[in-house]
Amino acid sequence: MSGAETRWLTNDTAIIDLHFQGVSKVIAAYVLETGDGLALIETGPSSTLAALEAGVESLGRELADIRHLLVTHIHLDHAGAAGLVLRRNPDARLYVHEVGAPHTIDPTNLVRSATRIYGDQMEPLWGEIVPVPAERVVAVSDGGTIDVGGRMLTVIYTPGHASHHVAFHDVQHNFAFTGDVAGIRIPPSSDTLPPTPPPDIDIPLWHQSVQRLRELAPDRMLLTHFGVVNDVQAHLDLLDRRLDEWLALIESLVHQGIERDAMVERLVAHVATQMEADGMTEVSQQTALATPYGMAVDGLLRYLRKRARGTWDVVQTNGVGEDRTA
Ligand SMILES: [Zn+2]
Repeated sequence: MSGAETRWLTNDTAIIDLHFQGVSKVIAAYVLETGDGLALIETGPSSTLAALEAGVESLGRELADIRHLLVTHIHLDHAGAAGLVLRRNPDARLYVHEVGAPHTIDPTNLVRSATRIYGDQMEPLWGEIVPVPAERVVAVSDGGTIDVGGRMLTVIYTPGHASHHVAFHDVQHNFAFTGDVAGIRIPPSSDTLPPTPPPDIDIPLWHQSVQRLRELAPDRMLLTHFGVVNDVQAHLDLLDRRLDEWLALIESLVHQGIERDAMVERLVAHVATQMEADGMTEVSQQTALATPYGMAVDGLLRYLRKRARGTWDVVQTNGVGEDRTA
């Protein structure tokens, strides 16, 4: 199950390929060896819990060794299995941004809104979603430092993809675990795509978060979708460009009165053309699993509507939007 992508990156940091929907290089989880058991960055969804367990075992450890769960945000592909992992590990804690934390304790709204989108695909895609006991949640915020068994991880608030998104900076290694804020890049492609699902995409905030990563200047970024990025600055420059391209494309299609489904086709065609022009390898299967293009269009349309209505401030204080998706 664990596959060739699962391996130690350093003597104390490993990547696990969760084989989401049976496909390699879609969702990663990271394992950190600490002075207090293992820390896991991203749990993946409940549907890949068996792959997580097999992955940890192939690294020579056990799921029961996990003491710390850190998630970049609460979307189901990143944090869906948190409740189940905590149930199996009675001493473990979950670290999550303060805005996302209440939705891990009571996932009712999260599940309801995801069900509205995924319908009968909820179970096969994401599996069971279990509430996290409140006393086991540690709410984190920007600038905070998490001491996981002597390994210091700084919390960097990075909204744009989600209003409660954080990245974790491993100070000692100068690694940044970037969740979705640094985009999707599926090896061997060097292209960088922005995951833009509803409900709280905010392009200017996203650019600011990218700038924060740029200034942080990590030696490596560790992406959830998927793996290690060494050419950090070039990657971030490309992400900025793609964000603007995608928004401009959808905005112009709105002005032309193009229907939503036709917009999805245009976006897919745009990505293919752009990748070819840049001499990049297309990895459409993994990319579409990480963020389906239909959802990317819906997220950008929702952002444009909010911006046009001028209700952005209201939506932001709402924190986790009600049509929360994965
Ligand atoms: Zn994601």
